[in-house]
Amino acid sequence: DNKVHMGREKADRATRDQVLDRRTEAIIESMVRKELISELQGVISTGKEANVYAAPLHTYDDDEGTHTGTLYRAAKIYKTSILSFVDRERYITGEHRFRNGGHKGNNRKMVKKWAEKEFRNLQRLNRAGLACPYPIQLKANVLLMEFLGDGEGHAYPRLRDVELEGTDDDDIAQQWRALYIQLLGLVRRLYQVCRLVHADLSEYNILYHERVLYIIDVSQSVGHDHPQTYDFLRMDLHNIGAFFRRKGVDTLRDRTVFEFATANNGLAYADDPAADATAAAEAIEQLYATRPKPAEGADGETDKEALAALEVDNEVFRAQYIPQSLHQIYDEGMVARGDGPVGGTEALHAKDSLYRNLLAEGQEDEGEEEDDDDDEDDDDDSDSDS
Ligand code: ADP
Ligand code: MG
Repeated sequence: DNKVHMGREKADRATRDQVLDRRTEAIIESMVRKELISELQGVISTGKEANVYAAPLHTYDDDEGTHTGTLYRAAKIYKTSILSFVDRERYITGEHRFRNGGHKGNNRKMVKKWAEKEFRNLQRLNRAGLACPYPIQLKANVLLMEFLGDGEGHAYPRLRDVELEGTDDDDIAQQWRALYIQLLGLVRRLYQVCRLVHADLSEYNILYHERVLYIIDVSQSVGHDHPQTYDFLRMDLHNIGAFFRRKGVDTLRDRTVFEFATANNGLAYADDPAADATAAAEAIEQLYATRPKPAEGADGETDKEALAALEVDNEVFRAQYIPQSLHQIYDEGMVARGDGPVGGTEALHAKDSLYRNLLAEGQEDEGEEEDDDDDEDDDDDSDSDS
């Protein structure tokens, strides 16, 4: 740990200086004045677009002035001097909230949009009862949120770094499988209740503590109105599958979990996260029970063959074109040319359950306003769809 050699404070300050320009400093100072935090402490993560700091709030006894405790928060500070937002552009195009977004050559404003987006998405996740940081305050490029970690300022590990402990290998394998199932339920709930696709979901953006998975890093998450929602969802599910397979979990096919996440059958327990998790887990066990059986063979061989078949199927699924909107379906001539949506609908129903889910959603989306969170400087311009 090079910080030890360098001296913790000095190292922290060095890292901080790279990001904290004058205005950001002023924001931090105002948060200190408002007693939201006492200081920025250790840097938890330095990323391309943001750094995350542990930000303790010390409490003192009123009379004696003695230190009574420390409550940790996390401050995610988006870098304002940052060059490469090119990649992120694609997340913005097509979204109502960011159409005509002020990102043309204005980094500070652009960065503010990202922070804002993350803040709102965290609110949405919280409202849906998903495990994630609670957003506390947003000021320009500084997002203050609940700290996911212990009382000493140590963050929970990323799923990538987790070493599960158990009574034996079997127990650990069972835990990994349970986490896989838990995560599929979360993706479904995120999609169905928050109406979001994470769009950067992987073992790096999930924290783990005591059998619970916490979703983080939702600045790039997209709503159902984004033209690439399905691509992002497929990517997310693919990452998840790949990770858990590396952990030895017998995963379901990408297309199966995609259908599971998007199936337009309504969530029976939309208002009850715990009951929803149970229902999701049961539904997934059902998917395991009813999936096509792998070919017969010697045990080891069957496993290998099944895995290979899974890879092929996932590959095919990934290469498949999933139309994003009704308009796209009609444009591509994927339905028999009938007179309007009704004839088209029937043709679609015959085709594929993916399209069926999609269609039901497309109809639902027609009249729906994207969001319930409106904001002063939202340059929303929702009349230009299609
Ligand atoms: P980036 O955009 O740089 O990937 P993330 O939101 O993924 O930013 O955060 C980077 C890292 O910071 C995470 O992997 C996690 O370890 C840590 N982190 C982020 N938010 C929190 C939080 N609320 N509590 C504790 N640690 C966090
Ligand atoms: Mg991240």
